[in-house]
Amino acid sequence: MACRIGCGACCIAPSISSPIPGMPQGKPAGVRCVQLDENNLCRLFNDPKRPTVCYRFDYDPELCGSHRDEALENITILEAAT
Ligand code: SF4
Ligand code: SF4
Repeated sequence: MACRIGCGACCIAPSISSPIPGMPQGKPAGVRCVQLDENNLCRLFNDPKRPTVCYRFDYDPELCGSHRDEALENITILEAAT
């Protein structure tokens, strides 16, 4: 199993404290990253400006679930617990 292309839940649900191009303060939980395009793909995927935290976020079958909505819900719960 691998990351669902076009899911993008991990670019919306979690807060990101490091600067993102276009979001210098990072982003709050539940806010769509400005670098997430209309197909839910990262505009910075192969760009060195992509935050390190994004490279580190790995597909996790339990967290990502079987559907985007499941991933959004699971990541939101995890975010609230940490
Ligand atoms: S939440 Fe999981 S499946 Fe969805 S884009 Fe992120 S890593 Fe991929
Ligand atoms: S920079 Fe790319 S990978 Fe990181 S949260 Fe934004 S869209 Fe997602």
